Amino acid sequence: NRSLAELDPEIAAVLEAELGRQRNTLEMIASENFAPRAVLEAQGSVLTNKYAEGYPGRRYYGGCEHVDVAENLARDRAKELFGAKYANVQPHSGASANAAVLAALIEPGDKILGLSLAHGGHLTHGMKLNFSGKLYEVAAYEVDPETFTVDMDKLREQAIAEKPDVIIAGWSAYPRQLDFAKFREIADEVGAKLWVDMAHFAGLVAAGLHPSPVPHADIVSSTVHKTLAGPRSGLILTNDLELYKKINSNVFPGQQGGPLMHAIAGKAVAFKIAASEEFRERQERTLAGARALAERLSQADVAEAGVSVLTGGTDVHLALVDLRNSELDGQQAEDLLHEIGITVNRNAVPFDPRPPMVTSGLRIGTPALATRGFGETEFIEVADIIATALINGQAADKEALKARVDALAEAFPLYPGHEEW
Ligand code: PLP
Repeated sequence: NRSLAELDPEIAAVLEAELGRQRNTLEMIASENFAPRAVLEAQGSVLTNKYAEGYPGRRYYGGCEHVDVAENLARDRAKELFGAKYANVQPHSGASANAAVLAALIEPGDKILGLSLAHGGHLTHGMKLNFSGKLYEVAAYEVDPETFTVDMDKLREQAIAEKPDVIIAGWSAYPRQLDFAKFREIADEVGAKLWVDMAHFAGLVAAGLHPSPVPHADIVSSTVHKTLAGPRSGLILTNDLELYKKINSNVFPGQQGGPLMHAIAGKAVAFKIAASEEFRERQERTLAGARALAERLSQADVAEAGVSVLTGGTDVHLALVDLRNSELDGQQAEDLLHEIGITVNRNAVPFDPRPPMVTSGLRIGTPALATRGFGETEFIEVADIIATALINGQAADKEALKARVDALAEAFPLYPGHEEW
């Protein structure tokens, strides 16, 4: 019954150091967020002890009467939040949700058509080393070389030529909204199923600030830990009962064994919060922050340094910075921002001349700072800090920029009142 600090001081030190890092730096990785204390409590709970293979009311283990309540709450809240008829809340992660989605929709050897990884798609949408690229035949669509957006007319032509069994709409790095109704039309025209992976923008959908894919897609999958700010995990939604049955059997026993009941309880909490006015207001600040960032990084002084914003702006929670004409490559820019206390990730831009480990881009997101309480004023300040760093490169006054970062971090304490975790 010893505490973590007593039993394993080395791991306790990791937790302490990581909490310090999260508190003292500005987190701008677009796929990250800060789970609320209530979600962390649910996850760090005795529910981690429970085996519950199966689904509520139909388990392969005894003693599931309490975890059944948690899973039913998570399912009901997810359905309500996204206006879907059916929800599976068991996927351990976004990737395992996506494996179950494809297994439910098609057979190995069938063809998928998704956004290429190099143009903002996700590994699970057909990357060759991923299960999706190994099990299925892959055709990928790309963004237009002029606009850097998906050209729906070209996509339609490609879909007619390729005849995919599934069309995938969704992304990990794309700053605009996709036209789900048009995707549906194209899928219907070529006899394909439509799967939307809303992992990145699910929080915006929940808040009513982004069009919902649920009325258009055969299946919608998501993660719960990005804009939704819940536990690290996945979610699958559908309005089709037959597909729902296939999803269920492809999650368990198809892909997984025992569900993580502590994570499922955390999802229930996250969906409850996501239905609140406070959450909606936070998503508004997230969007306003991304817009402020894109605007600052589109100004003349930034352009003179060869830095620009892909598509000239953003409709979502992130901006993609194009460094193809900058002296800094993606790696150098990521490192420079890290030195002044801002965490981002380098990201290939479409048609990137540099290798994937270096890249010519940055993906910068605002969800975590919005959760921390940032409003437009603070986002304008962060945007200026980033712009100043990228303009000056290695010659930037790092101490002065770090002091501005520290002032913001201090003004918006993370998990106030908690000395340890
Ligand atoms: N789908 C999309 C669009 C994503 O961006 C991600 C995460 O990066 C995933 C799925 C996979 O989620 P996870 O990392 O939980 O497996």
